[in-house]
Amino acid sequence: MTTLLFATNNQHKITEVQGVCPPEYNILGLQSAGIIKDIPEPYDTLHQNAYTKCKTIANLTGNDCFSEDTGLEVEVLNGAPGVKTARYAGDSCSNTENIKLILRNMKNFENRDARFRTVICLCQKDAYYYFEGVCEGRINKNSVGENGFGYDPIFVPKNYTLTFSEMDKSVKYSISHRTLAFQQFILFLQQKNLSNPPIN
Ligand code: IMP
Repeated sequence: MTTLLFATNNQHKITEVQGVCPPEYNILGLQSAGIIKDIPEPYDTLHQNAYTKCKTIANLTGNDCFSEDTGLEVEVLNGAPGVKTARYAGDSCSNTENIKLILRNMKNFENRDARFRTVICLCQKDAYYYFEGVCEGRINKNSVGENGFGYDPIFVPKNYTLTFSEMDKSVKYSISHRTLAFQQFILFLQQKNLSNPPIN
């Protein structure tokens, strides 16, 4: 069993990644690892934010780890909120306030196209690697559903009619931006292990 340290305090993200993780890997979040650290995300790109979270925890622990940063990109808002997704309605705003603002800003638009983009950053032996996942979809006219977190109540993935919040979490886990990035990350680890097999 290989333990992968996930540089996040977001239990939703940890559960989602655990839900699609092959059995030979174990995901450990910061809290479970006994690490208390809030890492700011002040940068202009998802890559820079993911890198900073990853580097902060790698430096603090001396261990390999991975992090992720996610943004919601709305076509008629020219890609906003993008890297500012967490603080769209202001620095210490709630998810409800963020959702309200997006629905208000899109009120007069028929084009509802949007996508979630996740960038995973892996620090392995002082080298950094990136993996990206995109989930295309649209912004619903109303906030509906109870499951998930963040913008899930207003995001309907392509080829579906329900928001992420309305669908069973296993369905979200099978198609999400985070899952797509995570699958590439796992493939990379598995291929690296194949090219460097353990010597008995
Ligand atoms: P961060 O990656 O934690 O900085 O998240 C940025 C913003 O996107 C936060 O407001 C999160 O709640 C939101 N977010 C991240 N991932 C998801 C998701 O899978 N569904 C809905 N909202 C998300």
